Amino acid sequence: MLHELEPDQLETASRLTRIKEAFEISDISYKYHEARAATDAEILSGHSEALLNKMSKTSSMAKYVFAPDTSSNMFTFDAAKTSAGGAIQMAEQLNSQSGFSMLRPPGHHATPESAMGFCFFNNVALAALALQRNNNKRVAIIDVDNHHGNGTQDIFRTNPNVLYSSLHADPQISYPGTGFADEVGFGEGMGSSVNFPLPYLTGDQDYLIAFDEVITPIVSEFNPDVILISLGVDGLKNDPYGQLSLSTDAYYEIGQRIFDLNGTNNNVGVVLEGGYKYDEMGLATVEFFRGLLGYYKDKRIEPKLSTKMEYTLRNVKAIQRSHWIGV
Ligand SMILES: [Zn+2]
Repeated sequence: MLHELEPDQLETASRLTRIKEAFEISDISYKYHEARAATDAEILSGHSEALLNKMSKTSSMAKYVFAPDTSSNMFTFDAAKTSAGGAIQMAEQLNSQSGFSMLRPPGHHATPESAMGFCFFNNVALAALALQRNNNKRVAIIDVDNHHGNGTQDIFRTNPNVLYSSLHADPQISYPGTGFADEVGFGEGMGSSVNFPLPYLTGDQDYLIAFDEVITPIVSEFNPDVILISLGVDGLKNDPYGQLSLSTDAYYEIGQRIFDLNGTNNNVGVVLEGGYKYDEMGLATVEFFRGLLGYYKDKRIEPKLSTKMEYTLRNVKAIQRSHWIGV
């Protein structure tokens, strides 16, 4: 709560307050656990020593600018370690329940070497690495943030045992400019990066088609032991940093699809990424969890392909067919 970027940035502590308040008035039952800090070894499993050293020096500096949108204050290092540690701890405790690492700063833009895009350490990646290291788990990451998780993709692009799949706004018009459909991984990890760039202002029905026709079959075929979600709700219509046009109800549908993918495993860990539309982000997050936990909803969204989306869908499927038979 004490970590702050420059005053004109919207990745603020009040985001957590909004989400917490939305859970409090929801019908979801949950209990809080206190997050622990990640160890140096855990951070170094995904990041360079240079980044860790630079971060540790920021504790005694009023401000350090990593990138134009990404700066630290004296509390950032502690917050980043705890955000990463909380994600790891949550992922390791997933047996028979779902978990939510409701922490900031977010992580999916942080690369092995660099803090960027409001992110310092890559929380979801460090959690997946811990699961691999300690339990040899196959992990599927599904990134539903409006923006491509370039850092997560970088960390796993040669790793065949961690699937990174992402639906995000077209990189030609959206930060950070990566996540084109033909970015599919390298070497042994060929096929383990799955990118679906969505046209400007993609709405609920097209988004769900993309999920159903590409993400669902690929994650099923990959057959993970654990699913980790990079949950950003900045795909909401009119999010100040977003280029999509989703409703809060769409997040229920996304959660529900992950519930279906997960079957009875109860091994879904959710890590908070972006979301800046303060008046709806709490509700969208709660709706996501209502879907993920199998809560009933009477009015459902019917997936439907628009002509605007047709070409993109065909292109993504053509690329993915070289790696996945179910697409
Ligand atoms: Zn985002």
